[in-house]
Amino acid sequence: MKAGWGGDYSAVMEEYDRKRSEALRRAEEVRRDLYRKSPAFEEADRALAGVGVLLLRAGRPGPDKEARWAEARRQVERMRQKRIEALEAMGLPEDAADPHYECPLCGDTGYTDAGMCACLRRALAEASLESSGLGALTRTQRFDNFSLEYYRDSEETYRTMKRIYEDARAYADAFYGRGSGNLLFIGGTGLGKTHLCCAVAREVALRGYRVLYCSVQTMFSDFSRERFRSGYGSDEGDTDRYLEADLLLLDDLGTEVTNQFTVSVLYEVLNSRLVAGKSTVINTNLGAKELRERYADRITSRLFGEFAVYQFAGRDVRAQKLRER
Ligand SMILES: [Zn+2]
Repeated sequence: MKAGWGGDYSAVMEEYDRKRSEALRRAEEVRRDLYRKSPAFEEADRALAGVGVLLLRAGRPGPDKEARWAEARRQVERMRQKRIEALEAMGLPEDAADPHYECPLCGDTGYTDAGMCACLRRALAEASLESSGLGALTRTQRFDNFSLEYYRDSEETYRTMKRIYEDARAYADAFYGRGSGNLLFIGGTGLGKTHLCCAVAREVALRGYRVLYCSVQTMFSDFSRERFRSGYGSDEGDTDRYLEADLLLLDDLGTEVTNQFTVSVLYEVLNSRLVAGKSTVINTNLGAKELRERYADRITSRLFGEFAVYQFAGRDVRAQKLRER
């Protein structure tokens, strides 16, 4: 299920119109400037602008249509050549007076003959990422700025982290909705779990999937608020999103105060998503042993049975970065 664009679409299209007008305006400015510098360019450029009429005339039916058409084409080619020569004489490339669009594929219209341009898809996904609240978080924590240089302690640490990075990236790149699988990131603070989690969230969201990223704490608060409200006859269901998201990323499992309620919510969310084939990525500072001690079997059997488990290695990256300052 792909995310809806809602109000993002008109805002993005407005930006496209602005970009396109700006490119056209700048090209017009350049053209007028070149007219002043080179009468030869002006003549050739104006002649080329009238080419439509010329071709229209040549295309009229009649006995000598073929010959007229061929002659018109030669004429246009000569004009084009003259225009290029005029630009060359000024030391300019042949596209000097053309509009320079950010996307040459669609000319900043957002659409090509084949339909929506890839650049518009990406822009819409970025916009929905911003409005989902993921924007700020994932803008700074991306795959392309995850540095493996902080994991040089030992060859083994480096190899482990390189594999985790590559697997996480491959997971995000290959994500296809239901059945994409689940990841469990285990390890101490500052080893990059949140960074990779955000990077996965960003890439999957940019590919148009509904992504929900939050701390387990937030999830438990939402469920407890809803339970409290429903006792008073409210029908608000803002916890549905935990079950509906194509990808749910839960940060900091184990930092919550564990009780019967949190355990049952966690089980409910994990199990419902697994049954529906929906993917979940979980981060935890707890080790495998601690997880088993803390959560019921029905939870840990799912975590260790249905999730690809990654044990992070190294030294606290945040502390290393602070020392670098
Ligand atoms: Zn485009």
